[in-house]
Amino acid sequence: MNIAFIGLGNMGAPMAQNLIKAGHTVTGFDTAAAPEGITMATSAPEAVQDADVVITMLPNGAILRSVANLVIPAMKAGAVLCDCSTVDVDSAKAVAEQAEAAGLGALDAPVSGGVGGASAGTLTFMVGGGDAAFATVQPLFEIMGQKAVHCGAAGAGQSAKICNNMILGVTMIATCEAFALADKLGLDRQKMYDVVSTSSGYSWTMNAYTPAPGVGATSPADNGYKPGFAAELMLKDLRLSQQAAESADADTPMGQLAAALYEHFVEQENGKGMDFSAMLPRFEKRGRG
Ligand code: NAD
Repeated sequence: MNIAFIGLGNMGAPMAQNLIKAGHTVTGFDTAAAPEGITMATSAPEAVQDADVVITMLPNGAILRSVANLVIPAMKAGAVLCDCSTVDVDSAKAVAEQAEAAGLGALDAPVSGGVGGASAGTLTFMVGGGDAAFATVQPLFEIMGQKAVHCGAAGAGQSAKICNNMILGVTMIATCEAFALADKLGLDRQKMYDVVSTSSGYSWTMNAYTPAPGVGATSPADNGYKPGFAAELMLKDLRLSQQAAESADADTPMGQLAAALYEHFVEQENGKGMDFSAMLPRFEKRGRG
């Protein structure tokens, strides 16, 4: 396939490189990055003109909308615009509508799995959009990832992503505050892990991404809380969940509190640049006041 790839940062570059390795022709465009081994165009419209599929991997919804305005008029009839960024549900729906009105297919296909998954080709894609567009892009999802779930119509992929990450943020906070409480009660962290990881408090954050150094799964906690998944990216996703909850009139008190805690952590407690599991040392230092 002829593929255009716009946004070749930490995630986009390895995803594009995997498509090239699998034998596809990729033309890239990025306003700053120029990764090795990818033929770059000088503008976004130039990158997309011959593409069967245009993949975008961009920082946020505003940038996605501006790139969509540039590339949709330049794409050939019947091509598919597939956005893999994490953006707000409203931007995902607006871009899909704009693409479909221009005779194109459109998918929102955010990913989970991080930079490691992007490099290894083991991402999970959660996808919103039409059946025909999904069928066109599915072979590419199989190269870049291990699983693609077609979640429903436009916006459904972003909806699944932010619901998942709202659970993740809330659960990480709960796991960290429980470890910090256990410390203050004089409970050994290893014993705490041994009990909870096989009891009803078990979770992905406890069992697979244990936030306590030297205990449980190997995780960023064992590497000085270097990300991994940065606290500011968790904050971005929690804010998107709350924006979606506002727009859908959904009551999400735990998500709202998690967003407020990560905001405080990132903006006022030097949490920026730390892994999102560094909530544990944050709680360790605090009392109730
Ligand atoms: P990044 O900042 O490394 O990459 C974004 C790229 O987009 C940059 O190279 C930037 O120069 C480029 N860009 C910005 N504006 C542009 C424009 N107008 N035209 C063309 N290129 C432009 O970010 P990333 O870590 O690769 O993340 C990309 C997306 O994936 C984000 O939406 C993020 O939330 C999501 N995501 C990231 C991770 C992760 O672990 N990094 C995991 C899951 C999802």
